[in-house]
Amino acid sequence: MTEWHEVQKRILKEKNLVNDKFSNRHSKFYYILPVPREKIKRVIVSPVSHIGNLCNAIDFLVPMNTEVYSAADGIVTSLKDDSNVGGTDPKYWYEGNYIVIKHNGESTGYEHFKYKGIVVEVADVIQQGQLIGYSGNTGYSRGPHLHFEVMEFFGPGDEDYITLKARFKDFHDAYETK
Ligand SMILES: [Zn+2]
Repeated sequence: MTEWHEVQKRILKEKNLVNDKFSNRHSKFYYILPVPREKIKRVIVSPVSHIGNLCNAIDFLVPMNTEVYSAADGIVTSLKDDSNVGGTDPKYWYEGNYIVIKHNGESTGYEHFKYKGIVVEVADVIQQGQLIGYSGNTGYSRGPHLHFEVMEFFGPGDEDYITLKARFKDFHDAYETK
């Protein structure tokens, strides 16, 4: 186990995150792909970085500056777009630019946008397929990609959520290849 993996585990423990409790549940809804299919080089469900409540998150390997679309209708609840750093050092854990969009009972999270690469604002009402930003490599990241997760919140805190296995309308079940 690498040193940075240990650091991640410590971060998760400090944040008191639930672990794998509902890890086998699929999303209620069927989403659309958050990036253009033709730009996806690879889909990774279980990189070592997806531990704790991130266990069902998906990494879509796409080039820098790839269009990112909302996976469903919703409202933007939080975002960050002012980070211009990233890499595999755990110090970048909180440096990823991200968006969270709330849907009907589930939310979706998107991370690692490029610096100032987000084109929506908090409280914006968003339609499925709407452009929300451009991918990048900010935060804790090994290379350009979009981190995507379907979230189910169980409390008021930013980290009070579990991830569900995302189901897509137009894409095979990514978890089957896990
Ligand atoms: Zn990821």
